[in-house]
Amino acid sequence: MNTENNTAIFYITDNGLKTAERLKVLYPDAPVLKFKSEIVSEIWNESRNLIFIMAAGIVVRTIAPLIKDKKTDPSVVVLDEKGEYAISLLSGHLGGANELAKKIAEFLKAEAIITTASDVNNLTSIDLWAKENNLVIEDWELVPQIGTRLLNNGALRIFSEIQIELPDEFLKVSDPRFADVLITNKKDPFTDSPIHRFTHSSIYPSTQLYLRPKNLVIGIGCNSGTSDKEIAEAIKAVFDENNLSFLSIHSIATIDIKEDEEGLNAFAEKYNFKIKTFNVDELNAVEGLQKSDVVFKATGANAVSEPAALLASGTSELLVPKYKLGNVTIAVAELNHFTTSPLHPFTTSPLHPFGRIYIVGTGPGSIEHLTPYAQDAIRKSDVIVGYGTYLDLIQELLKDKEVISTGMTKEVERCKRAVELAMSGKTVSVISGGDPGIYAMAGLVFEVLRAEARKSRSAEVTSELPNLQTSKLAIEVIPGISALNACAARLGAPLMHDFAVISLSDRLTPWELIEKRLAAAAMSDFVIVLYNPKSMGRPGHINKARAILLRYRSTETPVGIVKSAMRENERIIITNLRDMLNYDIDMQTTVIVGNSQTFTWNNYMITPRGYENKK
Ligand code: SAH
Repeated sequence: MNTENNTAIFYITDNGLKTAERLKVLYPDAPVLKFKSEIVSEIWNESRNLIFIMAAGIVVRTIAPLIKDKKTDPSVVVLDEKGEYAISLLSGHLGGANELAKKIAEFLKAEAIITTASDVNNLTSIDLWAKENNLVIEDWELVPQIGTRLLNNGALRIFSEIQIELPDEFLKVSDPRFADVLITNKKDPFTDSPIHRFTHSSIYPSTQLYLRPKNLVIGIGCNSGTSDKEIAEAIKAVFDENNLSFLSIHSIATIDIKEDEEGLNAFAEKYNFKIKTFNVDELNAVEGLQKSDVVFKATGANAVSEPAALLASGTSELLVPKYKLGNVTIAVAELNHFTTSPLHPFTTSPLHPFGRIYIVGTGPGSIEHLTPYAQDAIRKSDVIVGYGTYLDLIQELLKDKEVISTGMTKEVERCKRAVELAMSGKTVSVISGGDPGIYAMAGLVFEVLRAEARKSRSAEVTSELPNLQTSKLAIEVIPGISALNACAARLGAPLMHDFAVISLSDRLTPWELIEKRLAAAAMSDFVIVLYNPKSMGRPGHINKARAILLRYRSTETPVGIVKSAMRENERIIITNLRDMLNYDIDMQTTVIVGNSQTFTWNNYMITPRGYENKK
């Protein structure tokens, strides 16, 4: 059974089916199934969310033999057939049933029934908080005990070796002995420390829960044919020796020629570690490390494990310098900031107390074409920075936000302001129409950040920005539907074959270069998408572009002109190179010129992919 998005909805009665169908709006891909206990057993393991519209008793009897543990069981929500109550029945925290029940209740205007103690008392649940912050729980058996301590005392004491924002009821302590929860990549933070644990003293908590930040990068070099077992043992030995927790491993870094090294890949796969590779030039560019003649002879690199660890971690200091054990060399570095986990993008990440920037694409127009992910980012932002027209289109998301809007040509100013606000600790969304990385703001934000980083490195020049640690900002680019997607969809299927995208704006690109690219694309029979086809300042560009295309294409070549795709005043025209100038083409318009095979049919513009010829 294929449960797309791993959500399924079960019903029994006709009324139940009606409620299920209302829920389809929230979960369009979820199958709606007439209840049968066999189907539930069949899909249990692969499901993330199961929604049952029926008596809770039936659900309890059905799932009882299937339940394993809260790390793997799907979330289960039960609704009465009228959809007046949504009960979070199983996997309330980690599985997300509480959130699911709340979301469904909000949508159906029903009441969510949540029974987990921390929620009832409005307290943070330690397991959920750990998950949201990318921290690995070392011993799950201790979680209930720590949870109870939180409920009874109303607070938990946290010792952390990483920078992390804590909810109000988590109190930071600087002495690890007093902590209920320790956040550290050190296996035992009491070893090598002047503070010793007095386990018998009653003033200290009797059990302590360890949360492991995934912030260690292992640089590794190995001889060909080294087994995964040998690699694992070497890493474990180095970690033991240096008092580091294996659970804190973030990723592995090595030289590119080891990309297909079997043992290394098998090791990484087993523990689900990503491998990042660097080439000889990149490795040799890292200065100040010990060189090895043997490694140089074999690879051309002066060294592998140490520079790879430094490059991958983004730091300049090793936590553990090179160890050589048998066929393996290992060095360890600590990530200087966590990258946001793509699955939980909107939680505060421990090493990002400096605020964050979302560079958000809002799509071609209306909110329906703005992804839920992007909407979420905007909702979670304190400040929204953007250009007037795009902001107007998403007005309803902007209530109670600080909005900074400037004229269209003030992009650099907008970006600097956004970076400045993020540095002050705020969450800022920089908004672009369409996709933020296509003729829009994403590149500019990075350019501004790079310039700031450079300035702060050169001592003579003082930065314009108050805080110089731009590298500590969390940055996420969130894609949107670009005009080319929106306009192609409106026209039919014009982009089914190779295409080139050219902006006719010469505000930042010399016109000669634009002409050169037009000619090259036309010559190579690309379908051509023209952005910024005309503006007040340059009405003649589209005429010149057409003239260039006509050198290589027939007058009959289909041309699609789409103005304001997916907005109120949308207009779609299908014409050809001969007649295209008879239509209004403005700055809200995208023009798509077909290749030599493009045809029109029933008022659609289609570029064949070639299936017809391949019989
Ligand atoms: N980042 C945007 C492009 C910005 S450049 C994106 O990915 O879509 C601005 C140009 O995009 C406009 O001049 C126009 O050519 C095109 N454009 C943007 N939105 C459009 C829409 N809704 N319909 C047609 N063209 C659009």
